[in-house]
Amino acid sequence: MKIFIETYGCQMNVADSELVAAILEREKHRITNNISEADVIIFNTCSVREHAENRVLGRISNEMARKRHNPELKIGVIGCMAQRLGNSLFQMNKNIDFVVGVDQYKKLPEIISQAEKNNSRSNTDFNPNEIYSSIQSHHYGKFNAFVTIMRGCNNFCSYCIVPYTRGRERSRPVQDILNEIEFLGKKGFKDITLLGQNVNSYNFQKTNFAELLYLANKIDTIKRLRFVTSHPKDLSDEVIDAMANSSKVCEHLHLALQSGNDEILKKMNRGYSAEQFFQIIEHLRAKMPEIAITTDVIAGFPGETERQFEDTIELLKKIRFDYAFTFKYSPRAGTKAAEFPDHIPENIRLERLQRLIKLQENITLEKYQQQIGKTKEIYVEKISKKSKLEVSGKSRDFKITVFPGSKNLIEKFVNVKITSATGWTLRGERFD
Ligand code: SF4
Repeated sequence: MKIFIETYGCQMNVADSELVAAILEREKHRITNNISEADVIIFNTCSVREHAENRVLGRISNEMARKRHNPELKIGVIGCMAQRLGNSLFQMNKNIDFVVGVDQYKKLPEIISQAEKNNSRSNTDFNPNEIYSSIQSHHYGKFNAFVTIMRGCNNFCSYCIVPYTRGRERSRPVQDILNEIEFLGKKGFKDITLLGQNVNSYNFQKTNFAELLYLANKIDTIKRLRFVTSHPKDLSDEVIDAMANSSKVCEHLHLALQSGNDEILKKMNRGYSAEQFFQIIEHLRAKMPEIAITTDVIAGFPGETERQFEDTIELLKKIRFDYAFTFKYSPRAGTKAAEFPDHIPENIRLERLQRLIKLQENITLEKYQQQIGKTKEIYVEKISKKSKLEVSGKSRDFKITVFPGSKNLIEKFVNVKITSATGWTLRGERFD
């Protein structure tokens, strides 16, 4: 069977699609990039926002015409939305042939073969032990690969649906992770990102995340190591030391702040105060002066007053992140925050979001301009979109950098002296 997988949502879902591809290929199915030739279309879905779910339902309806033309075509829904809605998806759209939750991907080949016999099937059982250990994912990229080190989340931030759709935290065996990294390095992936909902709480048979970083750092088939997502409350001094002492761990960290006000952080159930977060940043910068730090911030969380919002603004000014992903709060049915009585009107949430964006744009531009004159190691990925005479790649601190060069530089690590900067891109010249 030729199988087309369409992925929505976060990096975890992208990694899961690569896992699902590997599971299906083991059973001699073929993954296709061409939806028109597919015998099976799988939607790997996201539940983080209602909008994301509606989009998928809309996409499935769009495929009705294809199914009318080819009645043998099967359509499946997997991922967080499958986990959350289960069998009710069959009622929501009669084109759906199978529904499979996040812990049941190994059953997909069997479920697809049942669907071929026109038996609609679903399996969304949680399996708290499922970690898909020893399955080598089908990595599609060329330079960067994500290696899942854990699944699930125990944190229950009050705005987040993930713990309800992905179950409790569990860590993948150390040796499986190291084998996969080594294998990927041999295949040419030199920039590896360790992936989990909260990698800092990784723990497998007494190996914690700091120890895993030290072990991964010894693998000589790769050049760079990164990780997402880090929860501030679990970012220990030991992990910061491991970052600073491991030459392959890049000088970049994404650390979600969400709010700069203690009462709001408490309502979010984040487990740290604004001051504690600031101290972590100070510690990171003391150990790694060149580290780039990016973050997530939510504007207009239920009950957020103007004064509380200004605490966030002030903290952003004090910390000066390299970049911030900013969101206006949107309620998610099934989460605790959705039940809070004091939701903020849409126009105020939007207005606060605009203020966050404007502030951060200026900071980001200044931070990028501070790079001028520095020499950075760039992992060259492609010919620049804007000019065939230029190439583009990423620095260790995750900044896109463009400089004059030809395709023979692709896959190489090149030193580049930065000569100019916009808010998103650095430009420079080779400096060998
Ligand atoms: S740490 Fe919080 S925001 Fe992240 S997945 Fe878990 S509950 Fe959601």
